Amino acid sequence: MISLNNRDFLFVPIADYIIPAEKVAHVQIGNNAEHALLVLTKTGYSAIPVIDSKNHLKGLLGIGMITDSILGLERIEYEKLADLKVDQIMQTDIPNIKTTDKFQKGLDLLINHTFLCVTEEDGTFAGILTRRVMLKEFKKYIYKN
Ligand code: AMP
Repeated sequence: MISLNNRDFLFVPIADYIIPAEKVAHVQIGNNAEHALLVLTKTGYSAIPVIDSKNHLKGLLGIGMITDSILGLERIEYEKLADLKVDQIMQTDIPNIKTTDKFQKGLDLLINHTFLCVTEEDGTFAGILTRRVMLKEFKKYIYKN
């Protein structure tokens, strides 16, 4: 078990560690599944945030959710992609984390998620916190202490 004398880092706000919204690939709520599949394939990300026209976070969309939504009994029904809207297939029960939350909350949640969508107090999408960035910070801290 790692033993750390100083646990101050657990109480640092996560704001400094997030990838800002303008650098995050995302889809808009009104986009269709075909567009979302294109974005996901081109970027190579497994899932991306879904945002509305007011820049509020609405959910998360992954490739698996798209394929699931077009699975027919005997074939994948690709022709449905154009008519399906992102909000019909996105995941909405995602963890809630804000820019003012502390490193400890991020650490706890990132055990089960590769990244977290971060919002401002009013629900505006602020960016993402990834497991990679968190682990890097944790590693720096351990080596320093
Ligand atoms: P990484 O830490 O780079 O391996 O990213 C883990 C996951 O976080 C990716 O598979 C994406 O789902 C998400 N992600 C990371 N960076 C971005 C980004 N710039 N835009 C959208 N999603 C991202």
